[in-house]
Amino acid sequence: MLISREQIAYRVAALGADITRDLAGQSVIFVGVLKGAAIFLSDLSRQVRLEATFDFIGVASYGNRPSPAQEPGEVRLTKDVDQSMRDKNIILVEDILDTGLTLTYLKGLLLAHQPKSFRIATLLDKPSRRKKPIQADYVGFHIPDEFVVGYGLDYAERYRNLPDICVVPRE
Ligand code: 5GP
Repeated sequence: MLISREQIAYRVAALGADITRDLAGQSVIFVGVLKGAAIFLSDLSRQVRLEATFDFIGVASYGNRPSPAQEPGEVRLTKDVDQSMRDKNIILVEDILDTGLTLTYLKGLLLAHQPKSFRIATLLDKPSRRKKPIQADYVGFHIPDEFVVGYGLDYAERYRNLPDICVVPRE
């Protein structure tokens, strides 16, 4: 186990308070990246005291999905958002920021909607793996270069429902 459910709950509450303060008096659209961010979005949004709506966006990597032994490929859209984001406050919610390819692609896509503001919330950040110069506005935890599962994160679609974040051995 790398991060316990208690540590996650504590950080998610702190991030929710930060978002509530930063967007005080305004409304927000949480845009979750399927499927890994679903649990984080559900917990984070309930810690935010603002008028809020949800949307979801889907991506896949060309070639193999990232796994303990694989590098991510190019990103492609599998599900677009359902509504226009023009003049709205958007928070793009992701499970993990790794090379940055996914969020760089999604940021470009969502900025084309001309939102009022655009922020990124990621539960996990592996800064040592970055290939694109992108940063999140809200980060739960910085973690070392390990492949992790749980709290929404999968290995071959399994382990998303683990309440804690755990490391998968690479071999
Ligand atoms: P990036 O495009 O930043 O390299 O990767 C982001 C995506 O790669 C995440 O949304 C996630 O699907 C996947 N990913 C990267 N690192 C991990 C990891 O340690 N565990 C899991 N389960 N997925 C990861």
